[in-house]
Amino acid sequence: MRAVTVIPGVPGSLRLLDDYPEPATEEGAILVEAIAVGICGTDLEIIEGQYGEAPPGTDHLVLGHESLGRVIEDPTGTLQPGDLVAGIVRHPDPLPCPNCAVDEWDMCRNGMFTEHGIKALPGFARQRWRLQPRFAVGLDPALGEVGVLLEPTSVVVKAWDHIFRIGERSEWQPRTALITGAGPIGLLAALLASQRGLSVHVLDLATEGPKPALAGALGATYHAGSLDQLDFEPDVIVECTGAPVVVLEAMCKVAPTGIVCLAGVSSGGRTIDFDAGALNRTLVLENNVVFGSVNANRRHWNAAAEALSRADRTWLASLITRRVPLSEYATAYSPGPKDIKVILDFSA
Ligand SMILES: [Zn+2]
Repeated sequence: MRAVTVIPGVPGSLRLLDDYPEPATEEGAILVEAIAVGICGTDLEIIEGQYGEAPPGTDHLVLGHESLGRVIEDPTGTLQPGDLVAGIVRHPDPLPCPNCAVDEWDMCRNGMFTEHGIKALPGFARQRWRLQPRFAVGLDPALGEVGVLLEPTSVVVKAWDHIFRIGERSEWQPRTALITGAGPIGLLAALLASQRGLSVHVLDLATEGPKPALAGALGATYHAGSLDQLDFEPDVIVECTGAPVVVLEAMCKVAPTGIVCLAGVSSGGRTIDFDAGALNRTLVLENNVVFGSVNANRRHWNAAAEALSRADRTWLASLITRRVPLSEYATAYSPGPKDIKVILDFSA
């Protein structure tokens, strides 16, 4: 069968193989036919050779961690043939650490977890794959293709889960949320903020393209420009750009008792001048919290499936700005300036 692969650590090794083996039954009882995979920055880093790890005993890593498929067979009866399904990306470490021991693999402490399409597990960019029931998430059939947004949605559900858990340290009545960065993660974070009844603001550099209207359709206020020019202090900031200046401005701008969730990954390697003492003073005197958030566990995946089911389908569909047939796979990994989410279409 066909599969999109790389040799991790080797830039330019992206290939579409025609003769990739069928998924082994050891991968799981549920056999799935791929519908689509979403593409994100992690895939591009793996293709550039910066990241990624092949499964033990092999050179090739199948890409794809944002999955959507249709169940072919499930002898366990967990799902029915024809059901829409997505695969949970991370599997717990084998030790396991205290968090993985209770299935909170998103909080793994020893880094020995594995991840489909990223770290030591084959990804979902292949025509068929298998899942164990505990890593399979069924989707509302009405979602169709937008079900491919489940993985990025699970990541922002986890971020919001932790924001509210942290908020409960005191009387917590957040009113305003600022999302920095209007890519797929930022826009989905804004969707979840609006579902939680918050007054939502989205900040991004783009003045053209679909981002302002997508934010507006959620009832959010869109700001193009810099964070320090905003005339209000948000109760919550979900930082999705990873841009060092934005990260620092977010920590300075958040309201007293505010929470800043860092959900974007910086590339590192650049230094900027800033007053660490002044930042410390603000964080201490205002009881502010800054924390990082990555990945998601089963609870978050289930909640993400519900959140997508409640969302406006047309809005979700408009996040998908390009569908690339498998035969033209390479172009899917070259994002254009107006792309939000690009998907590789296995049904074409
Ligand atoms: Zn662990």
